[in-house]
Amino acid sequence: MIFKSINPFTQLIIAEHEVLTNAQLNQKLQLSERAFKNWRQTTFEQRADMMKKLANILREKKAALGLLITNEMGKVLSESISEVEKSAGNCDFYAENAEQMLKDEYYDTPFKSMSVYDPMGAVFAIMPWNYPFWQVLRYAAPAIMAGNVTLLKHASNVIGCAKAIENAFLEAGFPKGVFQQITIDIPQVESVIASDIVHGVTLTGSEMAGSSVASLAGKHIKKSVMELGGSDAFIVLNDANLEKAATVATQSRMLNAGQACICAKRFIVTEKVADEFTVLFTQKVKALQQGNPLQEGINMGPLARLDLAEKLAIQLEKSLQQGAKLIVGGERENCNFQPTLIDFVDSNNIAFQEETFGPLATIIRAKDENDAVTIANNHRYGLASAIWTEDRENAYRLARKIEAGNVFVNSLVRSDSRVPFGGVKKSGYGRELGTIGIKEFMNMKSLIIE
Ligand code: NAP
Repeated sequence: MIFKSINPFTQLIIAEHEVLTNAQLNQKLQLSERAFKNWRQTTFEQRADMMKKLANILREKKAALGLLITNEMGKVLSESISEVEKSAGNCDFYAENAEQMLKDEYYDTPFKSMSVYDPMGAVFAIMPWNYPFWQVLRYAAPAIMAGNVTLLKHASNVIGCAKAIENAFLEAGFPKGVFQQITIDIPQVESVIASDIVHGVTLTGSEMAGSSVASLAGKHIKKSVMELGGSDAFIVLNDANLEKAATVATQSRMLNAGQACICAKRFIVTEKVADEFTVLFTQKVKALQQGNPLQEGINMGPLARLDLAEKLAIQLEKSLQQGAKLIVGGERENCNFQPTLIDFVDSNNIAFQEETFGPLATIIRAKDENDAVTIANNHRYGLASAIWTEDRENAYRLARKIEAGNVFVNSLVRSDSRVPFGGVKKSGYGRELGTIGIKEFMNMKSLIIE
């Protein structure tokens, strides 16, 4: 069996990758086991040296790696290069902070008692194509700094990126088996989860994949972290700076051609300012330049795969049939989907209820701020949200009411190595990044000494 990397802009096959046989997969698992025995004995200093080297390699090669990302999944080249830089920054962050994050913790008891953090073994990761470097380094840098090893099953359309990441780890001096990419098909996933060397499973992807993999992790009693879909609310209140809100709204929905879990998807605007906000938002969406992602001045490339563009077109069509009004865009040619804005969407509309993974923004009109929060929470997903208001006290009060893993006020929702990231409801469970991120796959061992 072969996975093909297809350039979504040209539709040309750029590489073919053979899927591992079960025997080859077994060898990789055994290598993982051997690598863990040695890796867990290394010091934080030794690991940090290699992690810093990896960060430098990523930065040195960012142009070539960025090109690879763009060719495999279609994002604009400057965004691809920024993604590689951000991934390098995450390696630096955990190289510098892992030891401090995992220091022993003492308790106030009449006897000596403390927690120590031991690595668990291999972390099995299943990752998506939308940020093919960032999603991987986001989980792998902390896992490896903590003394774990890892096996990556990347999305089948970005195996070139997976191989490039593995090569970068080897070039940085990490022993073979500490980071392995495994080109496997979905039916092979259970055997990896079942393997005795694997103690943790992390998946970033759709709700459907999450449900299936979380069930398998449960069946084999393996700790899991699920970073799943979202339909983030972007709430604009009467006193918001509308010009700034519309600028960030455009960025937040259209970045990466709308293919991010934390893209704002539902723009919930109070009635009083809805018309004015829509005019500003429309102007900014119209100004976007769509085209060849390698060309300078282009700020939106194609969607990553034809089936994704087709699915979005169906969602748009149904949404319009259900009463939404098309404001701008709506056309599609192959993977190229025009930046699109629809208005008068309500909670029964498909574009409200389903995650839309592409450049489709929906405007929902709310009576007032309480109504806006109710609409925001009336959803199966709870990944992130944004609130736009000049009243910071009120923003804080409303933010506490939002059912999401992350709430941003007057700002673009984004992930940051220092701050925990994750969702609630069907957006998943567990956290990545920050201190809690590195502790997800550790044995927090209680030590009591009389
Ligand atoms: P996807 O279809 O779920 O694919 C993600 C990964 O899961 C791929 O490696 C895929 O492999 C694998 N996969 C799919 N079905 C599986 C199954 N039944 N068992 C095991 N593995 C399976 O998701 P996508 O459409 O590529 O990515 C977009 C989704 O990811 C959106 O819902 C988005 O919101 C979510 N996402 C979440 C976050 C977050 O941090 N919360 C970040 C980015 C994306 P194949 O490629 O071989 O199918």
